[in-house]
Amino acid sequence: MIEVVALDQAVQDPTARHIVPLSGGKDSTALAVLMLQKYPNLPFEFLFTDTGAELPETYEYFKKFETIFDVKITRLTALDLPRFRAREKDGRRIPFDYVLDEVYSGFLPNPQARWCTRVLKIQPFEQFVGDDRAYSYIGIRDDENRVGYGGVGRSHSHTFSAERRAKPVVLSEKSNIMPVYPFKDLGMSLDEIKRVLDESGLGLPAYYEWRSRSGCYFCFYQQIGEWQGLRERHPELFRQAKTYEKVENGRAYTWSEGRSLTDIEKLKQRHANPVGEDLDGCAICHL
Ligand code: SF4
Repeated sequence: MIEVVALDQAVQDPTARHIVPLSGGKDSTALAVLMLQKYPNLPFEFLFTDTGAELPETYEYFKKFETIFDVKITRLTALDLPRFRAREKDGRRIPFDYVLDEVYSGFLPNPQARWCTRVLKIQPFEQFVGDDRAYSYIGIRDDENRVGYGGVGRSHSHTFSAERRAKPVVLSEKSNIMPVYPFKDLGMSLDEIKRVLDESGLGLPAYYEWRSRSGCYFCFYQQIGEWQGLRERHPELFRQAKTYEKVENGRAYTWSEGRSLTDIEKLKQRHANPVGEDLDGCAICHL
C-alpha cells in the first residue's frame, strides 16, 4: 500500500527524511524552490539521478539552482548500485550504456519496455533512501490530468493500493517512502509554477525553447520536431543518438517508432516545436 501524506503533516515530522527528487524539469524544480521558500528550516535533500545522457542545459539549470539557493544537489547514478559497482571497472561508459550493454544486451528501451526509468532512476533512488522513513515530494501539479495520475485528487490524504490501475505517480512503491504532492495540496497550477520560477530568478530550463520535456537527449518520447530541434541545437548529440540505432536479424531498433533518425534527418519539412506539454511521457523523468 502506498500511503500518501498531506503536505501539512509531512513538514511537521522531524523523524523522517525529506527528499525532493529533481528531474531537471520545471515542475520538480519549482517544487524544490517552493519548499525552500516555505520551509527554510526543514532539512530537505535534493536529489538527481543521472543517466549520463542528460542535456547540457539540464546541468546548467542545476548549477544555477545551487548557486541561487546555496544548496547542493546530490547526484546519483545506477553505477552506484552495488551489483553494478562491483562490475564496472573501467569507468568509461555512461550509466545508460553500461546497463544497455551489460544487462539488456543492446535492447533499447521504449514506452512499452521502459527499463531505463526503472534501473537508472528508481533503483538508485531506492538505494539512496534505504530503509529510512522518508517523504518523497513530487511535483505533480493541480491542473494535471495525465493517464496514470488519475488516482490523485485535491483531497488525497488516504491510501492507494499499489495494484490499482489509477494510482498516483510515485518514485517508489516501497512502504517507507511516502509520497507528498504539495502542488495538489496547495492547489497550484501551471501559471503559479512558472511564477515561482520567474520570481526566484531561475526561470525555465533553456531547453524548453525547443523541447517539451526534461530527460535524456535520446529519449524515445520525443516528437519529430524535438528530434529536429536536437539536431539543430546539439548536432553532436543527435549524431551520438544515431549510433544506438541498428538493424539486427531483420529487425530495426530505432528511438522513434517506425522511422530511424536518418529518416528524420532527411525530412524536408521542419515539424513544429511542441507547444505546451506533451503528457504522454515519463512521469518520473519529465517532471
Ligand atoms: S528520459 Fe526517456 S530515455 Fe531517459 S530514462 Fe527517462 S524515459 Fe528513459
